[in-house]
Amino acid sequence: MTSGDKGSTPLGGPSLADFRREARRFLDESVASGVACPAFGTIMPPSVGDRARAWQAHMHRHGWAGLHWPPRYGGRGLTRAHTNVWGEECARAEVAPHMNFQGVILAAGAILRFGTEPQRLRFLEPTLSGEILWCQLFSEPGAGSDLTSLTTRAVSRPDGGWTVNGQKVWTSTAQLAQWAILLARTDPDQTGGRGISFFCVDMSTPGIEVRPIVQMTGDSEFCEVFLTDVELPPDALVGPLNGGWRVAMSVLADERSAGRVGAINLQRRLERLASDTPSPDPLSRDRLADLQVRGRTLVHMMSRSDGDLSLGPLTKLAASEIGAELAEFALDATGPAATVTGPATEPFLYSPGLKLGGGTSEIQRNLIGERILGLPREPRPRPPDPQRQPNPGADT
Ligand SMILES: Cc1cc2nc3c(=O)[nH]c(=O)nc-3n(C[C@H](O)[C@H](O)[C@H](O)COP(=O)(O)OP(=O)(O)OC[C@H]3O[C@@H](n4cnc5c(N)ncnc54)[C@H](O)[C@@H]3O)c2cc1C
Repeated sequence: MTSGDKGSTPLGGPSLADFRREARRFLDESVASGVACPAFGTIMPPSVGDRARAWQAHMHRHGWAGLHWPPRYGGRGLTRAHTNVWGEECARAEVAPHMNFQGVILAAGAILRFGTEPQRLRFLEPTLSGEILWCQLFSEPGAGSDLTSLTTRAVSRPDGGWTVNGQKVWTSTAQLAQWAILLARTDPDQTGGRGISFFCVDMSTPGIEVRPIVQMTGDSEFCEVFLTDVELPPDALVGPLNGGWRVAMSVLADERSAGRVGAINLQRRLERLASDTPSPDPLSRDRLADLQVRGRTLVHMMSRSDGDLSLGPLTKLAASEIGAELAEFALDATGPAATVTGPATEPFLYSPGLKLGGGTSEIQRNLIGERILGLPREPRPRPPDPQRQPNPGADT
């Protein structure tokens, strides 16, 4: 599955066909020398941390990181089409296209769009080179799908900085990250998205405690993060004060839309499964064919919607549902041996998380209904009315 290479020579850059050949050569050499890190999903398992970091540094040194980013921030100034070709070639070579999704896609996307020039110069190139690893401090125990109900508070200080208190949860790679993007409420008198601000936080600041959570796979890819009197400097703010929700929305849109390489990987796994499954019964063949058709449709849909962040809920929903069904199929195909740890067991145990991380499947369906199909809005829970007296007749 490739982007159309013909007739698409961008101004000032190599033609896509030449670029693809160059990428293929670099990847083949990197795989042969052992420097390339095998593909993983959007969450870098802690066990591959050092290898992934060395791979990111190697890509950056040789001009294969930040392909469409401006050169003054460490990129190569090429087009998104080049980044897509790079992704396709990484998928072919089964190599990670970048190491730290939360940094290279999410934090960097926010800083590129909303950061000040000093913030861009401070953070972007070290993120591309693998020197800075990021995590995303958005979700809280009482705020996931409804992120605007977050209660972490950032209170301004006379020196222009902020003091932060609160708790975050499900923070992927927090135990490895040097920096975080954080959402906190800066104006308690405003409700919903208003009054929330977006910050960059140095994870070594006193008052930050990271506690890894053990998942049912046995790994600890995400953590709880406790923030107690954490002092942020004035230049930690990204975007307008009390206007961080817009920055957060752009991060969430990037998160939903960035699954193109993942979708190609999914398609390759489906093809491999089809050739490795010895004469499946008719029902399994039917299941596999259905998954393959949906997998291919997803890759085409991603190619067509490239750069159109508004279609992210469609591709995020399809990718996570197909991924979870593929994991289930692989487990069934393994049979009773899957009860002992094997190659199909861990992806199956991990698969429920696919339908939660980056926004749940139910939330994607709501977004598709409301924003893409223009259906009436889902009823939202009303905030409690402080004027309302409790009903004296009600049970307590
Ligand atoms: C693998 C993984 C990695 C993650 N990494 C990060 C990270 O790095 N940083 C971070 O901040 N967060 C992270 N998260 C958290 C993730 O964003 C949240 O789990 C997700 O947004 C759902 O929030 P919740 O868990 O609080 O569930 P809830 O919002 O409490 O939802 C519970 C259930 O109710 C359903 N539901 C809720 N509201 C509605 C509605 N309006 N309509 C219909 N159904 C609804 C949901 O679909 C879900 O099934 C990660 C999660 C996973 C699984």
